[in-house]
Amino acid sequence: MADLPKNIGWIGLGAMGYPMATNLLKKMSPETHFHVYDVVQASVDTFVKDGAGRVHVCTSSKEVTDKSDLILSMVPEGSHVRAVYLDPRTGVLASPSLSNPKILIDCSTIDPATSLAVRSALGTQHPRATFLDTPVSGGVLGAQKATLTFMLGCSETDPHLPLLQALLGLMGGNLFPCGGPSLGLTAKLCNNYCSSLITLATCEAMNLGIASGMDPRVLANIFHTSTAQSAIADDWNPVPGLCPEAPASRGYVGGFRVGLMAKDVGLAVESAEAVGVELVLGRVGLGVYRKAAGDERYRELDSRVVYRVLGGREDWRGDFPGEVGMRRDETRRLLKRAREEGL
Ligand code: NAD
Repeated sequence: MADLPKNIGWIGLGAMGYPMATNLLKKMSPETHFHVYDVVQASVDTFVKDGAGRVHVCTSSKEVTDKSDLILSMVPEGSHVRAVYLDPRTGVLASPSLSNPKILIDCSTIDPATSLAVRSALGTQHPRATFLDTPVSGGVLGAQKATLTFMLGCSETDPHLPLLQALLGLMGGNLFPCGGPSLGLTAKLCNNYCSSLITLATCEAMNLGIASGMDPRVLANIFHTSTAQSAIADDWNPVPGLCPEAPASRGYVGGFRVGLMAKDVGLAVESAEAVGVELVLGRVGLGVYRKAAGDERYRELDSRVVYRVLGGREDWRGDFPGEVGMRRDETRRLLKRAREEGL
């Protein structure tokens, strides 16, 4: 296993960054020290308390870089990534320490053009340092449980891979080198584009079924064993009351903020324009997510709140009381057995 650096820099301790950094703090050797910065001081202060002397506050991204061997960043948008890396006074690239071969890992989901611009500036100013786009999927729960998927903007033969596997493996089980610079972001945007539209289709189909007199529990069971099956229908169903753990069953609180989904669908549509690909569903989908993100009633809620935005029925229990004959757990068990038996 590759030797891990003893001084880790972390920039951006928000909903994702905080639990990701916490996993490193817990799992890395006690000699490892963390140098952290966030524009919101409260997040930094809590992390310092967790660190029992191993976490050190920095006043800028530049200071984080001065003091660390490897730097990770997790901030919301491309404008924040530019500020973190390119600010001429306080940014990462302003650190003369980058004359050493340090690795800079940006986990934010941003536009590929910004990521490539940071990489290019680094290449010009500090050719011995390396910048990698490394967005993640798995949400806040995946960040807490260290089950994230990492999409790496590098090839399968990248010499840094053993180190990246050892380090990122402490925060998630799945690492995919995506082929080259910015392709980690391409993978992430393709995934979220697809998932956002599957959500919209599931919302509309479930609502159509309920309005036509169908018990949504039965309909969800049918989707599960038919061609409308998806992680959204099975585990993140947008109809309240179908998946007890899903945000929809908890007032759409938690999960993946609708504003972040609007950002990602927008970035996917922009990327498609840049490479000359037509997205027939993209503009309609983007309109729905932007409408939700722009409305203060929905802005802070999980992206599956689009079911409510589209007028989906939430009071279905009154029409369909009682239990349905077969629960989805049972359906899953039967399906698994059938697969194992080659049926
Ligand atoms: P967040 O807003 O909770 O956290 C971002 C953090 O970055 C905040 O603490 C903020 O203060 C800090 N920040 C902003 N600008 C900064 C700067 N210039 N310098 C230092 N710190 C700065 O956002 P999040 O949910 O953690 O998401 C971060 C990124 O991860 C986004 O690109 C998002 O799309 C992506 N993502 C989020 C999820 C999720 O479920 N929340 C899942 C996968 C990917």
